[in-house]
This record gives sequence, structure tokens and C-alpha cells, in this order.
Amino acid sequence: VVFYWMRFADLRITDNRALHKASEQAQKDGIPLAVLFVLSPEDYFAHDRSSRRIDFVLRNLKLLQEAFSKLHIPLYVITHKPRRTLAERVVESIKEYGCRHLYANLEHEVDELRRDIRMWQLGERHGIQVNLFHDKCIVEPGVVLTKQARGYTIFTPYWRNWVDTLNANLGKYIEKCPVPLPNNESIRRDKKLSFLFQTPVPGSINGFELSDNDAANMKEFWPAGEATAIQVLDRFLKTKSRSSQLGAVDPLSPGAQDGANHSRIHKYHQSRDQMDRDTTSRLSVYLSAGVISVRECVRQTMQLTGSKKVDGNRSAGVGRWIQELAWRDFYTGILVHYPRVSMGRPYLEKYSRVVWENHQAPQDTTGVHEHHDSENFKKWKEGMTGVPIVDAAMRCLNKMGWVHNRARMIVAMYLTKDLMIDWRLGERYFMQTLIDGDLASNNGGWQWSASTGVDPCPYFRIFNPHSQSLKADPTGEFIRYWVPELRKLHGPEIHDPSASTVDKLGYPRKVIEHSAARDRALRRFKNPGEA
Ligand code: FAD
Repeated sequence: VVFYWMRFADLRITDNRALHKASEQAQKDGIPLAVLFVLSPEDYFAHDRSSRRIDFVLRNLKLLQEAFSKLHIPLYVITHKPRRTLAERVVESIKEYGCRHLYANLEHEVDELRRDIRMWQLGERHGIQVNLFHDKCIVEPGVVLTKQARGYTIFTPYWRNWVDTLNANLGKYIEKCPVPLPNNESIRRDKKLSFLFQTPVPGSINGFELSDNDAANMKEFWPAGEATAIQVLDRFLKTKSRSSQLGAVDPLSPGAQDGANHSRIHKYHQSRDQMDRDTTSRLSVYLSAGVISVRECVRQTMQLTGSKKVDGNRSAGVGRWIQELAWRDFYTGILVHYPRVSMGRPYLEKYSRVVWENHQAPQDTTGVHEHHDSENFKKWKEGMTGVPIVDAAMRCLNKMGWVHNRARMIVAMYLTKDLMIDWRLGERYFMQTLIDGDLASNNGGWQWSASTGVDPCPYFRIFNPHSQSLKADPTGEFIRYWVPELRKLHGPEIHDPSASTVDKLGYPRKVIEHSAARDRALRRFKNPGEA
């Protein structure tokens, strides 16, 4: 048997490099193809995976198992603890079926790369050839390099080089991989192999259960499956943004096609920062779990415009959107070139000594020196800071497991500069709450906002949440949608209601005044180590 080891962020059959190569190998050798998926709860805990993401993985796996089954390909699901011996368990599981070839797509996180090195060594010992492929990025890490052959740390020159590299090798980078050929039906009658068809996908994993309410919300906001992901893309490419779609949207019935030049993607360069309309693709959920191939996204934009090149014009909708996909490649590359960023360390080491307001001393005097979340951190998490745009964004995140990019920037900047709370706490809370959590993009976004990362927002450019609110939510629809206490307010007042208004409406007062908070942040970043 040839095995394809489907990874956590690999959840599709269409246009999947390792799966395609495994299928070719099986055809060449005239033997069956099987798919292995290893559920690894210890990894999920170690990486702060959200229960929503685990639930999304399981929902997709169920659909995949059915789809593979139609091709007479088993999707064999095992659960393994402890994480340190995962490679051993994989070897043991596939050896039993006489496996000589294992195929997988690479995961770029440090622990996963270490596991794959181990896997490769064990493969050598047991006569199993381990074949690993790049599939996450459009242009894989290590290709777009500076003249000194180093990883770029500034985005714009990276992106220019990225567009040129891509256009010079388009066939290689956006070619679609064929779906695997079916196994001979007789595989189901084979006494030993038929067992591989009999491992059901569990409904949940211990420690990652969702409440009924949350599970229902996630299904409504983010339906699983490759067909859905394609429809989400279609909706972005072909239909207009609406203010009535701030919560759940139904990707399965995108409505009337609105004409190519008015669709969301064509307006993206102008409207992408607007939070009071549904202006962006919402594909991150599907891209980060690999339910859609990023190459498919690029191909479809080219089909839409009829262009033979990838659009490098960031002043137009399509080019600007492609640039966002390049950010995804960029941050994945940062993880590979500068892995310290994923180990809780700032890219700019000088900021490792910045003094944060993280912890509150325990109230009791029992001598237990636990660290408690500070009151302000709790209020930030709950969307109760008294800053409407911040609270609306946090409540959207808490309910949907997803929030608009501008909203992520605003709340991250507010936590790290206004509340002066360590970016690592925010990064962690995002991972535990997001359904699209991706270590590279999340860390990149947090370190950008905290001014500690590669090509960051300079520490003295501190967002004013009030002016951000006026710009990103000019109609106030986003705030009204997510902060019902303020639903009656219209006009500029909604962005910064007075203390007497909020008292009347039962909404909290601001936990901190921006100008004083700003001065504190400037002082602390200017003099790391000083309070
Ligand atoms: P679109 O605007 O339609 O963009 C298309 C795709 O491009 C996205 O789906 C995503 O894959 C990619 N993309 C867009 N912006 C970025 C970016 N800044 N960095 C990397 N990739 C990008 N994105 C994640 O996928 N997972 C995360 O865990 C994550 N955490 C973030 C944390 C912070 C603090 C910040 C500021 C950003 C974070 N992002 C993360 C990036 C970005 O906010 C989301 O990708 C985007 O909001 C998803 O919405 P969309 O699919 O509608 O995006």
C-alpha cells in the first residue's frame, strides 16, 4: 500500500500535491492507495488549537472520508498520544500494511519539521521512502530571497520579487494537480485492507468539545467541505459586498451575480478596510485548514480577468487581493527563516525587555504565586473595554471565531499599546478562539501590531481607536451589529459615547484614556526595561 499522510492543514482531495504524487506512485506500482490521518490532541494543546478549529477539522474529515470512499480509497483515522512518539506510531501503523512509500505535505512549524526529520530517519531504518512536498504557499519558503540569499524581512521588496518569481515560473507554481485515481474495488474485500475503511471520524476530541450552541454557530458560519470553499471564493469573485452580511453569510446561495466589475474583489483595494460591509473573501478559514488550494485562488483570479500573468498591481482590486495571499507566504517564510518568532520571542530582540502590565497580584495572601489575568485583559477578551470598535471586534471574534483583518489590527494594537498587555497573551487568546488560527499569520499579525516583528508598525504609530472606528466603520453598522447596548445610537456618537450616555445604556465606561495610555506606551518602547 502507498500511504498519503494527510496533515492538519491539508483537508482536501482536489489539487493536493502529496496526494497526487502518492496516487501516481500507487498507479506505477499497481498497488492500492490509502490515506492516514493522525489525531494528536497533545499537539493541539501545545499549539493552543481552538476547539472550533478541531471541530472544523473533524467536520471536514467526515466529508473527506465519504468522498475518498467513493474512490475506494480508505481514510484511516488514528488517535495518538504522546506527541513525542508520533512518528514511531505512524511507522508502526503503515508498516503493518507493507508500506514502502509515504507521501505528505510539509508543515512549516518547528515541532512539525522536527517530527518529519524523525519520520524520515525512521523511514530509512524501516525501508519506507518518505516523500515531502510544499503545498501551503504559492511560492514555497526559501525561493524568494534577498541578494545576500537571506529571507526578506521587509514585505514590499519581498512581494515585488515574489510576483516576478511567480510570473517567471507560472506553470510550476499554479499548475493544478489531478485528483487521485480510484483504487480497484476489490480492496474492500481484502481481509486486511478492509479494516482501513472501518475507522470512523470521532464527533469530538476530549478537551476540545464545543457547547451545543457554539457547535451550531460554527456550522452556520463556516460550513465544511471543498465544495463550500469553492462557493465562498465564487461569492467573493462574483458578488457585491453587503452591510446586511456582517454575521453569517450563506456561501451556498450567493445570490444574483453582480457583474464582474462591481464584485467584492474588484472593489477590494478601496473597501478592504471597511468593517461595516462584508468586503473581504472570508476564505482564511478554508485556506488555513487547506480545504481549498491557494493555487486555485490564484487561477480563478486569472480566469476572472482573462490575464496570463499574476496581477502585481496593488492599486487594483485583484492585484491587492493577490498581495494579501503573498502576505500569507511572507509570514510562513518568516517562521522558516527566523523560527525564534514562534518560540515566544520578538523578532526585534531589543523589545524583549519592554515592561508589560500583564498580571495582577493575587487578591488572597495564601502564598500561592499564580498569575491571574488582569482585569483589563479579561475585559478585552470579553469585549467590555468601553471602546465600542474594540468591543464590537472582540465580540465578533468570540461569536464567529473570525473577524475582519482591520478589526484584528485594532484590537491587537489596543491590547499592546493602550492596555500595555504583552502581545503573547493576545496571540494565545486568538489561537484559542479563532477558527482560522495559523501560527505564522497570527504571530506575524501580533508582532506587527506590537511593533516587535519583521516590518512592523513603528512603535510611535499608535492607532487611535476613535479615528480608526470612524474610518473603518463609517456608518456605525459594525458596532450596532455586535454591541446591542449601543444599537440606538446613530451618527458620530456611537464611536465615542459620553460617560452619561453609556451609563444610561448599560455599556461600560472606558477602562483607560487613550492619550495617557499612548504616552505610557511611547515611554516604555523608547526605554525598554523601564516602567
Ligand atoms: P482577505 O482579505 O479576503 O484575504 C485573503 C487571504 O489572504 C486571507 O484569507 C488570508 O489567507 C490571506 N491574508 C490576508 N491578510 C493577511 C495577513 N495580514 N497576513 C497573512 N495572511 C493574510 N490570518 C489567518 O489566516 N490566521 C490567523 O490566525 C491570523 N491571525 C491574525 C492576527 C492578527 C493580530 C492580525 C492583524 C492578522 C491576522 N491574520 C490571520 C491575517 C488576516 O487578518 C486574516 O487572514 C484575514 O482577516 C482573513 O479574512 P479574509 O479571508 O476575508 O481575508
